[in-house]
Amino acid sequence: MQQYPTSALYVVATPIGNLADLTLRALHVLFLVDAVACEDSRNTATLLSRHGLSKPLIAAHQHNEREVAEKLITRLKAGERIALVSDAGTPAVSDPGARIVDAVLEAGLRVIPIPGASAAIAALSASGLLHEQFYFVGFLPARAKQREEALERLRRTAATMVFYEAPHRIVETIDALAAAFEPTRQIVLARELTKLFEEIHRCPLAQAAAWLAADAHRQKGEYVILLEGAVSASSDTDAEAERVLAILLKECSVSQAAALAAQITGARKKHLYDIALRMKAP
Ligand code: SAM
Repeated sequence: MQQYPTSALYVVATPIGNLADLTLRALHVLFLVDAVACEDSRNTATLLSRHGLSKPLIAAHQHNEREVAEKLITRLKAGERIALVSDAGTPAVSDPGARIVDAVLEAGLRVIPIPGASAAIAALSASGLLHEQFYFVGFLPARAKQREEALERLRRTAATMVFYEAPHRIVETIDALAAAFEPTRQIVLARELTKLFEEIHRCPLAQAAAWLAADAHRQKGEYVILLEGAVSASSDTDAEAERVLAILLKECSVSQAAALAAQITGARKKHLYDIALRMKAP
């Protein structure tokens, strides 16, 4: 019992699809705890009952984390053990939980992680991308303008980027990535991980939309998207863009030169347009 102290919050990872992906330690903690704080009580009740467990459940979703934290702290101070779970995967990773953990730590109480499934790590592990570093982006903004701005900020990121996407928005997101990054970058589309229709597809970004279009089933489902980071230093890329633009600007307008240079170099037209404007400026 030494490893499972009382007055502690246990942050328990749960499966991302395959119910067997619950660790033995997670199962033991769920058996031990006095209550489970969870994102959706129906989902958690189903998971617990699959393993023959039934526990008092406390709703803990993104809109009530602060109030719930107060209640949990009172119960923890009274000597309870409480588990925190989300609907799938690791709590607080693009899921509610971080505010509760923060409040519990601030109250001087223990928080103990019970690691397990996380979609990002599962996708990375089977991607074959040589990612010495990765950058977890999570969900991009849903609105086009904010999404474009977020992608612009990521253009020079050298690390492999990890995106989550809501099931109904994959086509839109791939189009946005294709508009923002070089077509030659490798992308991995990891779909329905650990589930019956799991697919992990790797291709150049330019081919991703066609892969999605080839099968209607691919246009929905849970996805992790991995995108190769910036391949060469941006200054090299810009130097090449300037070389190409210098030739084109002798014959074409700024916008024609930017469009042609985008086709030649694979860089973004808007970025090339800005460079061409600077080059034309007196
Ligand atoms: N906390 C979770 C984790 O640790 O991975 C992530 C929760 S987040 C609300 C849900 C997103 O995770 C989905 O929209 C999808 O991008 C990704 N995801 C979750 N389960 C997945 C699965 N089985 N296959 C692919 N992606 C998944």
